[in-house]
Amino acid sequence: MVEQATDEIVHHVASLPKQPLHATGGMKALARSLREPLPETGAEYTQLLHTLFSKLIPRSFNTASPGYLAYIPGGGLLHSAVADLISLAVNRYVSVWVAAPGLAQLEQNVVRWCCEIVGYVGAPTPGGLLVSGGSMANLLAIVTARASICGEEFSRAVIYTSDQAHHSVLKAARFAGFRADQVRVIGTDEHFRIDVRALEGAITADASAKREPMMIVASAGTTNTGAVDDLQAVTALAKKKRLWVHVDAAYGGFFALTERGRGVLRGLERADTITLDPHKGLFLPYGTGCLVVRDADRLRRAHAMQAAYLPPMQEDAELVDFCDLGPELSRDFRGLRVWLPIKMHGAQAFREALDEKLDLASAARDEIAAMPNMQIVAEPALSLFAFRLGPGCGKDGAALDAHNRKLLQIINGRQRAFVTGTTTPVGFVIRVCVLSFRTHADRMEMLLEDVRYACKRLRVS
Ligand SMILES: *Cc1c(COP(=O)(O)O)cnc(C)c1O
Repeated sequence: MVEQATDEIVHHVASLPKQPLHATGGMKALARSLREPLPETGAEYTQLLHTLFSKLIPRSFNTASPGYLAYIPGGGLLHSAVADLISLAVNRYVSVWVAAPGLAQLEQNVVRWCCEIVGYVGAPTPGGLLVSGGSMANLLAIVTARASICGEEFSRAVIYTSDQAHHSVLKAARFAGFRADQVRVIGTDEHFRIDVRALEGAITADASAKREPMMIVASAGTTNTGAVDDLQAVTALAKKKRLWVHVDAAYGGFFALTERGRGVLRGLERADTITLDPHKGLFLPYGTGCLVVRDADRLRRAHAMQAAYLPPMQEDAELVDFCDLGPELSRDFRGLRVWLPIKMHGAQAFREALDEKLDLASAARDEIAAMPNMQIVAEPALSLFAFRLGPGCGKDGAALDAHNRKLLQIINGRQRAFVTGTTTPVGFVIRVCVLSFRTHADRMEMLLEDVRYACKRLRVS
């Protein structure tokens, strides 16, 4: 089984650069054609593999392509797939330390490396937990802040974030038991960063109205336009007002491996908790997020619980029972899929790859800015920027938005680069996020060619 699957995988991965970026049409019919009742008898493995690789995988967004510049890419290192094969095949239980101490230590190493990357080296007891993604990490952060600051009574507590924060922050607040009126959405400046003066004003107003300001959720690389909040100002304000600071760095956090990234992310190391997404900035396949915590004991105190049928949990702070740090008891061995590629390549390889993404984004930004009537709406703070055809093209308002939507459609129609759009206060914009380890200068050149082509087509029509 493994050999046959490997043959298919090798063929698939080798042909990735040539595969289209997205399939078009007939998707509902495809989904319908797959419906079936519970199969009573088995089917042939070869046939099942064929269905997967020939019929279903090609009919999707090609998220592993070097041309995938949509949403937040990552690419999906194959090393992690091999690691998962091993983890799942041996099926060890890594959630409690005594059940697999060596493997638990590997996972704990990964968490500690994440702490090192964000600059928690000076903190006395840093730690964290690998989760399924950034959304879960944001949820755990809010629960941890709530437990640490408020305990059980949090009906007057207030969470502050910006209008550019990822929607998972609002979702997390809801799941953590906060009412919508307990979340203050603060406006942003012309660079889409949280307005720190407005933030301070809101905190002061809430405090004088006898509400209880609890935490600030800042962004280090928004999904919308890649904006990085002024983390030094936010953490300084939080310290002054005694609030918890969580930084959602799901997209931007791993740029702290690079010198330029550290500059942009200055202040990150002062946060109480930080969300990272190895399935973005470490190029892993989907399913791995990480919450790092300046004082890991806060995480444990917010989540730990005893049960008679469980083995005793570790008292020694060095030995971690992952089930004590989050909501999950049984879970996959997430550590190995991060550990294997880092051990095989070293941090250096990741640093260089991330540096390359910064260069690619900045070069593409310059080329696009030089095209007629083009407007850079969001500069690349890291590797994500947004542009549009500006009012110089003779249109405005809804007509201008429609024009840019058409531009996006033509670019994506070429099937060599896949970009997505979003709305900002100026209107609809096209965003480019460079984060796949497979994306290099040749592919960015194709994007630029396709943008030029699309502009020409629009002028003619
Ligand atoms: C991707 C992202 C999230 C959500 O993470 P998932 O891994 O998709 O759950 C949250 N915040 C930001 C800034 C992101 O980029």
